[in-house]
Amino acid sequence: MTPLTTALLRRLSEAAGGPGNEGAVRDLIARALHPHVDALHIDAMGNLTAIKRGRGEGDLRVALTAHMDEVALFITEIDSNGLLHVAASGGVNARTLAGKGVLVGPEQLPGVIGWPPPHLQRHNNDESKRVPKIEDLVIDIGAADKEAAAARVKIGQQALFATRFGFLGRDQAVAEEAPLPQKGRIKGKAFDDRLGCAAAMALLMGPALPCDLHAIFTVQEEVGVRGALAAAEMLAVDLLLVLEGTVCDDLPGPVDEPRFPTTRLGDGPALTQRDGSYVVQAAVLQHLLRTAAAHGIPYQFKHPNAGGTDASGFGRYRATPTGILSTPCRYIHGPVAVAELGDFHALIQLLRAVLADEAALARLVGRS
Ligand SMILES: [Zn+2]
Repeated sequence: MTPLTTALLRRLSEAAGGPGNEGAVRDLIARALHPHVDALHIDAMGNLTAIKRGRGEGDLRVALTAHMDEVALFITEIDSNGLLHVAASGGVNARTLAGKGVLVGPEQLPGVIGWPPPHLQRHNNDESKRVPKIEDLVIDIGAADKEAAAARVKIGQQALFATRFGFLGRDQAVAEEAPLPQKGRIKGKAFDDRLGCAAAMALLMGPALPCDLHAIFTVQEEVGVRGALAAAEMLAVDLLLVLEGTVCDDLPGPVDEPRFPTTRLGDGPALTQRDGSYVVQAAVLQHLLRTAAAHGIPYQFKHPNAGGTDASGFGRYRATPTGILSTPCRYIHGPVAVAELGDFHALIQLLRAVLADEAALARLVGRS
């Protein structure tokens, strides 16, 4: 039984947390964890660390890490029509944005990302085929002119997708305060990396494990693992496990677009062998594989060499054995992602199995 409720995952997904603006997510996580952990610490950059003491004999320390921030837009200019011009904070594909709803600034003002209607696109000059760039897009908050818009929104404020969390293909409503269902497709924003945050929280909210458990919820991952670079200084653990929401490109795409296999929804948590910025040590990877096999937990490999995670930030300053485990997310970094709860729960199950075996962990990190 998971200690996570549907309501908690909904709040995590819907909370506003662009890079450098993670306060609402941090407050939510800290409040939820407070009754379950021995210490909570926030560093000057905004990284949140929670510590839960182990019940074991040894002094093994394992850290889980997940990033709190999500890709976002931020306001760069307000024009004479009262429209907001934007730039991206993190990797955003402009062609997924046109026509989508957003929430702007601390007041969460509703807005719409504008794009010319198809009737007015001039077919004879290829405009209908033009791929929008971020600088082509504007946010319409319904302001009549610059003055009206500037009264509500300031340059530099963030705009985030106005996506409600929900379940796909369910006839009946899911009870919000009941434990999160074991299976089913969920949709929402910021699954990268609130699903990682939720997985770490599930471990901390559950019964104590033999080892001391540290969970580091980082800031600014999406703009170059900057929170992890700062938090690495304080990291003093025997093993680090990075928890992510990762790319799932398992559907046929537009004709003539190159496709590459990554992960498949429903095939279990994805284990990284290597990505664009980190190579997982063979001993750590083999330990994860052995544990999954011993407990009959499904897993898949993430396609090598794509993307990067906080592993590279922590790894730059600390020599810590590190594993990377992810929940596959379709349409990642877009307005709405889709994930399979079975993959998410299997990831938590694998983490529990790894952390429960103190002797095997001690052997892995050379402490036995
Ligand atoms: Zn991520």
